[in-house]
Amino acid sequence: MAIETLPRLDSYPGAALSMSATGDVLVANARAEGVVLLLASGSLLEVAELVKEAANSSTIAAGTVSVPTDNGDILLEVTVLPEDGADSLIVLARDLTMERNLRSALVESRQRYKDLVEVSSDFYWETDPQGKFVFVSPRGGLGHASEDLIDRDGSEFVVDPEAFSPLPFVSERPLEDVEMWFMGKDEETACMLVSCVPLFREDENGREWSGTRGVCRDVTEERRSEAALSRARHREQLLGYIVSSVRDELDPQNMLTAAATTTARALGVAGCRIYRQTEPDKVLIAAEYGNTEELEELDESIRDLGLQSEVKPVEIGPWSTLAVATHYRQEMNGAITIWRSAKGDPWEDDHLILIADIADQLGIANEQVTNHERIVALSRTDSMTGLLNRRAFFEEELPRRASRLERSRESAALFYVDMDNFKLVNDTHGHQTGDDAIMFLRDMLIDFSRPGDVIARLGGDEFAMWLDGISSEVAEVRATSLIKQSQPMLQFSGDDDHPLGISVGIAVYEPDTHESIDDLLARADAAMYAIKNAGKGGFHMAPPAVEGSSEGS
Ligand code: GH3
Ligand code: MG
Repeated sequence: MAIETLPRLDSYPGAALSMSATGDVLVANARAEGVVLLLASGSLLEVAELVKEAANSSTIAAGTVSVPTDNGDILLEVTVLPEDGADSLIVLARDLTMERNLRSALVESRQRYKDLVEVSSDFYWETDPQGKFVFVSPRGGLGHASEDLIDRDGSEFVVDPEAFSPLPFVSERPLEDVEMWFMGKDEETACMLVSCVPLFREDENGREWSGTRGVCRDVTEERRSEAALSRARHREQLLGYIVSSVRDELDPQNMLTAAATTTARALGVAGCRIYRQTEPDKVLIAAEYGNTEELEELDESIRDLGLQSEVKPVEIGPWSTLAVATHYRQEMNGAITIWRSAKGDPWEDDHLILIADIADQLGIANEQVTNHERIVALSRTDSMTGLLNRRAFFEEELPRRASRLERSRESAALFYVDMDNFKLVNDTHGHQTGDDAIMFLRDMLIDFSRPGDVIARLGGDEFAMWLDGISSEVAEVRATSLIKQSQPMLQFSGDDDHPLGISVGIAVYEPDTHESIDDLLARADAAMYAIKNAGKGGFHMAPPAVEGSSEGS
C-alpha cells in the first residue's frame, strides 16, 4: 500500500505518521520511512501497544522503544496522540540514539577523568582571577588536604614567587612545565612541574578571563636524586683531580704535598694536613697546606683515629676539623685532616664522603712514602755498622752540612779515622776478630760523638766523622781525647810490634773561606797521610784552608 504523505507532519524534526487504532499506517512524513518499514516487519510491537493504549484511553501515550539492528540498538522516543474527532492517531518518533550515545560517552569520559585525578599523585587545581584555589583534586597537594587549600592564595606556597612572571595560578596564558619549588606543610620543600591553561567566561560583553586550571607534578624525588647524582659526579671529579695530581709527582714527599694542596683547594677549606704513622705510636706531619695556626691539639687527636669508623667534626681552637685515618692492609698508617672556620657553615655530607675517599687513596701514598724512606735509608747505610756509608756521607751529608754552616757562619771539623795495623788483626786472629774490632771502633765513635755530629764508615777500617760547630782549637782537644779513648783497641792487636790503634787526619771547615768539599777532603786526606807517615797512633791537623782558595777553580 502506498502511503500518502501528510504535509502538516512534514515540519516535525523526526518521524511522524498517522495510524489507525488497529495499527495501520495511514499517512507518514518523509522521515518516517524507516519506522514504517520496521512497523511492517513487526519489529515495533511496543509502538503498536502505545497506539492501542492511546486509542483506548483517548489520552497521549509515550515511551521509549529500543530497536535492535545490525549496527546496534536504535532508541526511539515515541509519543502517540489521539486525533480529535477521528479514529486515527498521530505517532511521533524521535531518534534518541545519538543523544544517548553522546551522553554515555560524556559520562564515561567524566568518570575516566575523575578516576585519573583520584589515582594520580599530581595535584590538580583551579583558581579564580585572584589566584585563590576554587578547586583542588581530592588528594590535596603540598601536604595539605584538598579542603584546606580552597580559598588559599596559590602564591603563598611558592618559595620564590617573584621569580615567576606570571605565576601559573594567575596566568592568563597557557604555561607548560614551569619548574617551581613549593613550601609544603611541614616546612618541607617540594619541586613541581606546573602546567596550566587559562579559563574564559563568555557573555554578551565578550570574553573575560575567569581563572586558571592547572596541574602540579611532583618531581622532588627526581630532582633530589639528580642532585645526589651530580654531587657524586662532582666528588668523583674532585677525587680524580686529587689522585691525578698525586700520581703526577715522582718524589714520594712531593706526592703528599700535592695531595694536601689539591685537597685544600678542591674542597675550598682553610687548610689540610697529612700525617704519617712511622711507628706504632709515632705520628708525624708529612705535609700540610693553608692556615695552620692554633692547631696544636690536632696532632694529639690523630693517634686514636684508627679505631674510629665515622668521620666526625671536632672543634680545635677557631677551627672545625675533620680527620680520617689512612690505612694500608687494615693497619693505620697515617691520617688526613681538613679544617675551616668553626664560625662558618657546618660541614656538608659531601665533605665527609670526600675526605674518607681521599683517605682511602692516601693510605697507599703513605705506604709508598714509608717504603721509599726505607729504601733510601738502606741505600745510605753501611750494612755492617749501620753507620752512614761513603756515598751518603760525601754526596749528601757533607754538602748539606757545609751549606748550613755557610748560613750560620760556624766552623766544623772533619775527622778521618783509620785503624793502624788492622790487616794483622785479620791475619793473626781471623776475620771475625777483625769484624769485632771494627764494631768496637764504631761503638767508640758513637760514644764520642755529640748530638749534631755524623759518623760514616767509608770502607774497610776507615771511618769519618763530622763534628758540627767546633773550632780548630776544640777539634784538637777532642782529637786528643779520642786517641786516648782508643787505648782499649790494643786488645785486638795482631802482635806487640803492630798495636791496633787509630790515626786521625783532621781538616777544619771555615765557611768564610768558601772552601769546596773536594778541597776539604783533600786536606783531611793529606792530614791522614801525614800522621800515618809520622808513625801512626795520633792525629794531625791539616793547615787551615786559604781564604778564597777554591774560587775560580
Ligand atoms: P795501616 O796501618 O797503614 O792503615 O794498614 P792496615 O793494616 O790497617 O791496613 P789497611 O788499612 O791498608 O787495610 C785494611 C784491611 O782491612 C784490608 C782488608 O782486608 C780489611 N778489611 C776490609 N774490610 C773488612 C771487614 O769488613 N772485616 C774485616 N775483618 N776486615 C776487613
Ligand atoms: Mg788501616
